[in-house]
Amino acid sequence: MKVAAKTAILEHLGRHHEAMVALLADLVNIDSGSYNKRGVDAVGERLRAYIAAAGISSEILPNATFGDCLAARLTGVGGDERPIILMGHRDTVFPDGTAAERPFRIEGNQAFGPGVADMKAGLVMNTFVLEAFHRLGAPCPLTGLYTSDEEIASPSSRPIIEAEARGARAVFNAEPGRPSGNLVSRRKGAAFIELEVTGRAAHSGAAHAQGVNAIEALARKIQRLHRLTDYDLGTTVNVGLAQGGTAVNTVAARATAAIDVRFPTLNIMEKILGEVREICCCCELPGSDARILREGNFLPLEQDEASRELLELYGRSAAGLGFQVAGEATGGSADSGFTAALGTPTLCGTGPVGGNAHRDDEWCRIDTLVLRAQALALTILELAAV
Ligand SMILES: [Zn+2]
Repeated sequence: MKVAAKTAILEHLGRHHEAMVALLADLVNIDSGSYNKRGVDAVGERLRAYIAAAGISSEILPNATFGDCLAARLTGVGGDERPIILMGHRDTVFPDGTAAERPFRIEGNQAFGPGVADMKAGLVMNTFVLEAFHRLGAPCPLTGLYTSDEEIASPSSRPIIEAEARGARAVFNAEPGRPSGNLVSRRKGAAFIELEVTGRAAHSGAAHAQGVNAIEALARKIQRLHRLTDYDLGTTVNVGLAQGGTAVNTVAARATAAIDVRFPTLNIMEKILGEVREICCCCELPGSDARILREGNFLPLEQDEASRELLELYGRSAAGLGFQVAGEATGGSADSGFTAALGTPTLCGTGPVGGNAHRDDEWCRIDTLVLRAQALALTILELAAV
Protein backbone atom coordinates (compact mmCIF):
# COMPACT_ATOMS: atom_id res chain seq x y z
CA MET A 1 0.00 0.00 0.00
CA LYS A 2 2.69 2.42 1.04
CA VAL A 3 4.85 1.53 -1.93
CA ALA A 4 1.83 1.84 -4.23
CA ALA A 5 1.02 5.28 -2.84
CA LYS A 6 4.59 6.42 -3.43
CA THR A 7 4.69 5.06 -6.95
CA ALA A 8 1.37 6.65 -7.79
CA ILE A 9 2.37 10.11 -6.62
CA LEU A 10 5.79 9.99 -8.25
CA GLU A 11 4.21 9.00 -11.56
CA HIS A 12 1.50 11.62 -11.25
CA LEU A 13 4.00 14.43 -10.62
CA GLY A 14 6.29 13.05 -13.32
CA ARG A 15 3.60 13.69 -15.93
CA HIS A 16 3.22 17.37 -15.07
CA HIS A 17 6.49 19.03 -16.12
CA GLU A 18 4.87 20.95 -19.00
CA ALA A 19 1.95 22.08 -16.86
CA MET A 20 4.32 23.28 -14.13
CA VAL A 21 6.34 25.32 -16.61
CA ALA A 22 3.14 26.84 -18.06
CA LEU A 23 1.87 27.93 -14.64
CA LEU A 24 5.32 29.28 -13.75
CA ALA A 25 5.34 31.39 -16.92
CA ASP A 26 1.94 32.84 -16.04
CA LEU A 27 3.05 33.77 -12.51
CA VAL A 28 6.39 35.29 -13.56
CA ASN A 29 4.66 37.45 -16.18
CA ILE A 30 2.58 39.22 -13.51
CA ASP A 31 4.43 42.04 -11.71
CA SER A 32 4.04 41.52 -7.97
CA GLY A 33 6.33 43.80 -6.00
CA SER A 34 5.52 43.77 -2.29
CA TYR A 35 3.79 47.18 -2.40
CA ASN A 36 1.83 46.32 -5.56
CA LYS A 37 -1.31 44.90 -3.94
CA ARG A 38 -3.10 44.52 -7.26
CA GLY A 39 -0.24 42.48 -8.72
CA VAL A 40 0.29 40.31 -5.65
CA ASP A 41 -3.46 39.61 -5.63
CA ALA A 42 -3.41 38.84 -9.36
CA VAL A 43 -0.78 36.15 -8.72
CA GLY A 44 -3.08 34.85 -5.97
CA GLU A 45 -6.04 34.78 -8.37
CA ARG A 46 -4.08 32.79 -10.95
CA LEU A 47 -3.12 30.25 -8.28
CA ARG A 48 -6.65 30.17 -6.89
CA ALA A 49 -8.06 29.50 -10.36
CA TYR A 50 -5.69 26.57 -10.73
CA ILE A 51 -6.47 25.25 -7.26
CA ALA A 52 -10.23 25.62 -7.81
CA ALA A 53 -10.06 23.83 -11.18
CA ALA A 54 -8.35 20.96 -9.38
CA GLY A 55 -11.30 20.82 -6.98
CA ILE A 56 -9.43 22.01 -3.90
CA SER A 57 -11.14 24.44 -1.54
CA SER A 58 -9.34 27.62 -0.58
CA GLU A 59 -9.97 30.77 1.40
CA ILE A 60 -8.78 34.35 1.06
CA LEU A 61 -7.55 36.14 4.16
CA PRO A 62 -8.00 39.75 3.09
CA ASN A 63 -5.67 42.66 3.75
CA ALA A 64 -6.41 46.29 2.91
CA THR A 65 -2.81 47.43 2.37
CA PHE A 66 -0.77 44.49 1.15
CA GLY A 67 -1.80 41.48 -0.91
CA ASP A 68 -4.36 39.09 0.56
CA CYS A 69 -3.16 35.76 1.91
CA LEU A 70 -4.48 32.59 0.30
CA ALA A 71 -4.86 29.26 2.08
CA ALA A 72 -5.74 26.00 0.27
CA ARG A 73 -6.74 23.11 2.49
CA LEU A 74 -6.84 19.34 2.05
CA THR A 75 -8.27 17.02 4.64
CA GLY A 76 -6.29 13.89 5.38
CA VAL A 77 -7.25 10.25 5.68
CA GLY A 78 -4.76 9.48 8.45
CA GLY A 79 -5.18 9.69 12.20
CA ASP A 80 -3.03 12.76 12.89
CA GLU A 81 -5.07 15.96 12.72
CA ARG A 82 -2.11 18.33 12.76
CA PRO A 83 -1.62 19.80 9.28
CA ILE A 84 1.60 19.94 7.30
CA ILE A 85 2.06 23.39 5.82
CA LEU A 86 3.50 24.13 2.40
CA MET A 87 4.45 27.78 2.54
CA GLY A 88 5.50 30.37 -0.01
CA HIS A 89 5.37 34.11 -0.75
CA ARG A 90 3.88 35.66 -3.91
CA ASP A 91 5.64 39.04 -3.75
CA THR A 92 8.93 39.91 -5.43
CA VAL A 93 11.48 42.71 -5.06
CA PHE A 94 10.96 43.95 -8.62
CA PRO A 95 9.23 47.21 -9.66
CA ASP A 96 6.18 47.42 -11.95
CA GLY A 97 7.09 47.03 -15.59
CA THR A 98 9.80 44.42 -15.00
CA ALA A 99 7.68 41.55 -16.32
CA ALA A 100 7.02 43.40 -19.59
CA GLU A 101 10.70 44.38 -19.85
CA ARG A 102 12.08 40.90 -19.39
CA PRO A 103 9.27 38.33 -19.42
CA PHE A 104 9.59 34.63 -18.62
CA ARG A 105 12.00 32.87 -20.94
CA ILE A 106 13.77 29.53 -21.11
CA GLU A 107 17.32 28.75 -22.20
CA GLY A 108 18.14 25.08 -21.97
CA ASN A 109 17.44 23.93 -18.43
CA GLN A 110 17.16 27.41 -17.01
CA ALA A 111 14.22 29.78 -16.79
CA PHE A 112 14.58 33.51 -16.26
CA GLY A 113 12.26 36.32 -15.24
CA PRO A 114 11.42 38.39 -12.15
CA GLY A 115 10.83 36.14 -9.15
CA VAL A 116 11.23 32.95 -11.18
CA ALA A 117 13.19 31.23 -8.38
CA ASP A 118 12.35 33.52 -5.43
CA MET A 119 9.86 32.12 -5.30
CA LYS A 120 7.27 31.59 -7.99
CA ALA A 121 8.74 28.20 -8.88
CA GLY A 122 8.26 27.20 -5.23
CA LEU A 123 4.60 28.28 -5.38
CA VAL A 124 4.11 26.17 -8.50
CA MET A 125 5.78 23.16 -6.88
CA ASN A 126 3.66 23.42 -3.72
CA THR A 127 0.49 23.75 -5.82
CA PHE A 128 1.21 20.61 -7.84
CA VAL A 129 2.07 18.64 -4.70
CA LEU A 130 -1.28 19.70 -3.21
CA GLU A 131 -3.07 18.74 -6.42
CA ALA A 132 -1.38 15.33 -6.47
CA PHE A 133 -2.41 14.60 -2.90
CA HIS A 134 -5.94 15.84 -3.61
CA ARG A 135 -6.26 13.34 -6.45
CA LEU A 136 -4.53 10.42 -4.78
CA GLY A 137 -5.47 11.01 -1.13
CA ALA A 138 -3.57 13.04 1.46
CA PRO A 139 -2.12 11.05 4.38
CA CYS A 140 -2.80 13.96 6.77
CA PRO A 141 -4.27 17.46 6.50
CA LEU A 142 -2.25 19.69 4.15
CA THR A 143 -2.38 23.47 3.95
CA GLY A 144 -0.96 25.46 1.06
CA LEU A 145 -0.22 28.92 2.42
CA TYR A 146 0.46 31.65 -0.16
CA THR A 147 1.59 34.84 1.56
CA SER A 148 1.96 38.36 0.21
CA ASP A 149 4.76 40.47 1.69
CA GLU A 150 7.84 38.41 2.63
CA GLU A 151 10.30 40.66 0.85
CA ILE A 152 9.49 43.47 3.29
CA ALA A 153 9.60 41.24 6.40
CA SER A 154 5.94 40.11 6.23
CA PRO A 155 4.21 42.93 8.13
CA SER A 156 0.74 41.61 7.23
CA SER A 157 1.46 37.89 6.72
CA ARG A 158 3.39 37.22 9.91
CA PRO A 159 0.36 36.84 12.23
CA ILE A 160 -1.29 34.53 9.69
CA ILE A 161 1.85 32.44 9.30
CA GLU A 162 2.18 32.12 13.06
CA ALA A 163 -1.48 31.20 13.53
CA GLU A 164 -1.27 28.52 10.82
CA ALA A 165 2.07 27.12 11.98
CA ARG A 166 1.28 26.96 15.67
CA GLY A 167 0.66 23.33 16.45
CA ALA A 168 1.30 22.24 12.87
CA ARG A 169 3.16 19.02 12.31
CA ALA A 170 5.78 20.60 10.05
CA VAL A 171 6.38 23.55 7.74
CA PHE A 172 8.07 23.24 4.36
CA ASN A 173 9.01 26.66 3.00
CA ALA A 174 9.56 26.60 -0.75
CA GLU A 175 12.30 29.23 -1.00
CA PRO A 176 14.67 28.24 -3.82
CA GLY A 177 16.96 25.27 -3.32
CA ARG A 178 20.59 26.42 -3.23
CA PRO A 179 22.63 26.27 -6.47
CA SER A 180 24.27 23.16 -4.92
CA GLY A 181 20.81 21.62 -4.57
CA ASN A 182 21.04 21.86 -0.79
CA LEU A 183 18.25 22.96 1.51
CA VAL A 184 18.50 25.72 4.11
CA SER A 185 18.82 24.64 7.70
CA ARG A 186 19.88 27.93 9.24
CA ARG A 187 19.08 31.51 8.39
CA LYS A 188 20.08 34.69 10.10
CA GLY A 189 17.39 36.90 11.50
CA ALA A 190 17.21 40.49 10.31
CA ALA A 191 15.89 43.85 11.35
CA PHE A 192 15.29 46.69 8.91
CA ILE A 193 15.15 50.02 10.72
CA GLU A 194 14.33 53.44 9.30
CA LEU A 195 15.83 56.22 11.38
CA GLU A 196 15.12 59.95 11.35
CA VAL A 197 17.43 62.51 12.94
CA THR A 198 16.38 66.13 13.30
CA GLY A 199 18.46 69.21 14.13
CA ARG A 200 17.94 72.93 13.55
CA ALA A 201 18.32 74.73 10.22
CA ALA A 202 20.48 77.85 10.03
CA HIS A 203 22.38 79.88 7.43
CA SER A 204 25.79 78.25 7.39
CA GLY A 205 27.55 81.59 6.87
CA ALA A 206 25.48 84.13 8.74
CA ALA A 207 24.17 82.03 11.67
CA HIS A 208 26.24 78.85 11.84
CA ALA A 209 26.26 78.76 15.64
CA GLN A 210 22.47 78.72 15.78
CA GLY A 211 22.23 75.52 13.75
CA VAL A 212 22.27 71.90 14.86
CA ASN A 213 23.44 69.68 12.02
CA ALA A 214 21.35 66.52 11.71
CA ILE A 215 23.85 65.02 9.26
CA GLU A 216 26.61 65.26 11.86
CA ALA A 217 24.38 63.65 14.49
CA LEU A 218 23.56 60.86 12.04
CA ALA A 219 27.23 60.40 11.09
CA ARG A 220 28.15 59.88 14.73
CA LYS A 221 25.41 57.27 15.05
CA ILE A 222 26.54 55.46 11.91
CA GLN A 223 30.07 55.13 13.28
CA ARG A 224 28.78 53.63 16.51
CA LEU A 225 26.30 51.37 14.71
CA HIS A 226 28.94 49.96 12.37
CA ARG A 227 31.23 49.16 15.28
CA LEU A 228 28.59 46.63 16.46
CA THR A 229 29.49 44.33 13.55
CA ASP A 230 31.11 41.17 14.89
CA TYR A 231 31.90 38.54 12.25
CA ASP A 232 32.92 35.95 14.85
CA LEU A 233 29.53 36.25 16.52
CA GLY A 234 27.74 36.44 13.16
CA THR A 235 26.22 39.87 13.71
CA THR A 236 26.40 42.62 11.10
CA VAL A 237 25.12 46.18 10.91
CA ASN A 238 24.90 48.00 7.59
CA VAL A 239 23.60 51.52 7.02
CA GLY A 240 22.65 51.02 3.40
CA LEU A 241 20.86 54.31 2.76
CA ALA A 242 21.55 57.77 4.14
CA GLN A 243 20.07 61.11 3.13
CA GLY A 244 20.05 64.56 4.61
CA GLY A 245 20.09 68.30 4.24
CA THR A 246 18.56 70.73 1.80
CA ALA A 247 21.42 72.94 0.56
CA VAL A 248 25.19 73.23 0.82
CA ASN A 249 24.91 76.52 2.70
CA THR A 250 22.21 75.42 5.14
CA VAL A 251 22.92 73.59 8.40
CA ALA A 252 21.03 70.35 7.86
CA ALA A 253 17.79 70.15 9.84
CA ARG A 254 16.95 66.56 8.92
CA ALA A 255 18.69 63.33 7.96
CA THR A 256 17.44 59.78 7.54
CA ALA A 257 19.05 56.37 7.31
CA ALA A 258 18.01 52.77 6.66
CA ILE A 259 19.79 50.20 8.78
CA ASP A 260 20.10 46.46 8.18
CA VAL A 261 20.95 44.37 11.24
CA ARG A 262 21.63 40.60 11.04
CA PHE A 263 21.97 38.09 13.85
CA PRO A 264 22.28 34.29 14.07
CA THR A 265 20.14 33.43 17.12
CA LEU A 266 17.19 34.72 19.14
CA ASN A 267 19.43 35.31 22.17
CA ILE A 268 21.85 37.45 20.22
CA MET A 269 18.90 39.27 18.61
CA GLU A 270 17.75 40.66 21.97
CA LYS A 271 21.19 42.02 22.76
CA ILE A 272 22.11 43.55 19.41
CA LEU A 273 18.70 45.12 18.77
CA GLY A 274 18.82 46.65 22.24
CA GLU A 275 22.16 48.24 21.44
CA VAL A 276 21.04 49.40 18.00
CA ARG A 277 17.87 51.01 19.35
CA GLU A 278 19.83 52.75 22.09
CA ILE A 279 22.23 54.29 19.55
CA CYS A 280 19.35 55.24 17.24
CA CYS A 281 17.39 57.07 19.88
CA CYS A 282 20.08 58.67 22.05
CA CYS A 283 21.13 62.28 21.61
CA GLU A 284 24.56 62.46 19.94
CA LEU A 285 24.60 66.20 19.55
CA PRO A 286 22.98 68.74 21.90
CA GLY A 287 19.83 70.12 20.29
CA SER A 288 19.33 67.16 17.97
CA ASP A 289 16.62 64.56 18.23
CA ALA A 290 16.17 61.07 16.78
CA ARG A 291 13.46 58.51 16.39
CA ILE A 292 12.82 55.18 14.70
CA LEU A 293 10.20 55.63 11.97
CA ARG A 294 9.72 51.98 11.13
CA GLU A 295 11.14 48.65 12.08
CA GLY A 296 10.55 45.25 10.47
CA ASN A 297 11.99 42.04 11.88
CA PHE A 298 12.69 38.52 10.67
CA LEU A 299 13.43 35.91 13.29
CA PRO A 300 16.45 33.66 12.73
CA LEU A 301 15.93 30.07 11.58
CA GLU A 302 17.67 27.94 14.17
CA GLN A 303 17.90 24.21 13.68
CA ASP A 304 16.47 22.24 16.59
CA GLU A 305 16.38 18.48 16.92
CA ALA A 306 12.99 18.09 15.22
CA SER A 307 14.03 20.25 12.27
CA ARG A 308 17.25 18.25 11.95
CA GLU A 309 15.20 15.05 11.78
CA LEU A 310 13.00 16.62 9.12
CA LEU A 311 16.08 17.39 7.04
CA GLU A 312 17.25 13.78 7.42
CA LEU A 313 13.85 12.52 6.30
CA TYR A 314 13.98 14.78 3.25
CA GLY A 315 17.53 13.66 2.58
CA ARG A 316 16.43 10.00 2.48
CA SER A 317 13.56 10.88 0.10
CA ALA A 318 15.97 12.77 -2.16
CA ALA A 319 18.47 9.91 -2.11
CA GLY A 320 15.68 7.54 -3.19
CA LEU A 321 15.17 9.79 -6.22
CA GLY A 322 18.87 9.88 -6.97
CA PHE A 323 20.05 13.19 -5.56
CA GLN A 324 21.91 14.20 -2.42
CA VAL A 325 21.05 17.15 -0.20
CA ALA A 326 22.49 18.66 2.93
CA GLY A 327 21.54 21.67 5.03
CA GLU A 328 23.24 25.01 4.42
CA ALA A 329 23.38 28.20 6.43
CA THR A 330 22.62 31.54 4.81
CA GLY A 331 22.66 35.17 5.88
CA GLY A 332 19.37 35.75 4.05
CA SER A 333 16.21 35.83 6.14
CA ALA A 334 12.77 34.34 5.45
CA ASP A 335 9.37 33.47 6.87
CA SER A 336 10.73 30.09 8.01
CA GLY A 337 12.30 31.88 10.99
CA PHE A 338 8.82 32.73 12.32
CA THR A 339 7.63 29.14 12.20
CA ALA A 340 10.84 27.66 13.63
CA ALA A 341 10.70 30.13 16.53
CA LEU A 342 7.30 28.68 17.47
CA GLY A 343 8.94 25.28 17.84
CA THR A 344 7.28 23.86 14.70
CA PRO A 345 9.70 21.62 12.78
CA THR A 346 10.68 23.66 9.74
CA LEU A 347 12.58 22.99 6.56
CA CYS A 348 13.45 25.85 4.21
CA GLY A 349 14.73 25.93 0.63
CA THR A 350 12.57 23.02 -0.56
CA GLY A 351 11.78 24.86 -3.81
CA PRO A 352 13.23 24.16 -7.24
CA VAL A 353 16.93 24.97 -7.50
CA GLY A 354 17.73 28.58 -8.32
CA GLY A 355 20.14 31.43 -7.85
CA ASN A 356 20.95 35.13 -8.27
CA ALA A 357 17.78 36.06 -6.38
CA HIS A 358 16.88 39.78 -6.41
CA ARG A 359 19.00 40.30 -9.55
CA ASP A 360 18.17 40.71 -13.25
CA ASP A 361 19.90 37.41 -14.03
CA GLU A 362 17.91 35.37 -11.48
CA TRP A 363 17.56 31.81 -12.76
CA CYS A 364 15.65 28.64 -11.94
CA ARG A 365 16.55 25.10 -13.03
CA ILE A 366 13.26 23.95 -14.53
CA ASP A 367 14.55 20.38 -14.71
CA THR A 368 14.25 20.35 -10.90
CA LEU A 369 10.53 21.30 -10.79
CA VAL A 370 9.30 17.70 -10.90
CA LEU A 371 12.18 16.27 -8.90
CA ARG A 372 11.79 18.67 -5.97
CA ALA A 373 8.01 18.18 -6.03
CA GLN A 374 8.56 14.41 -5.84
CA ALA A 375 11.06 14.73 -2.98
CA LEU A 376 8.62 16.91 -1.06
CA ALA A 377 5.73 14.52 -1.68
CA LEU A 378 7.76 11.51 -0.53
CA THR A 379 8.85 13.38 2.59
CA ILE A 380 5.21 14.17 3.40
CA LEU A 381 4.25 10.50 2.98
CA GLU A 382 7.12 9.39 5.23
CA LEU A 383 6.37 12.03 7.83
CA ALA A 384 2.69 11.09 7.96
CA ALA A 385 3.62 7.43 8.38
CA VAL A 386 5.80 8.07 11.47
ZN1 LIG B 1 11.96 34.51 -1.10
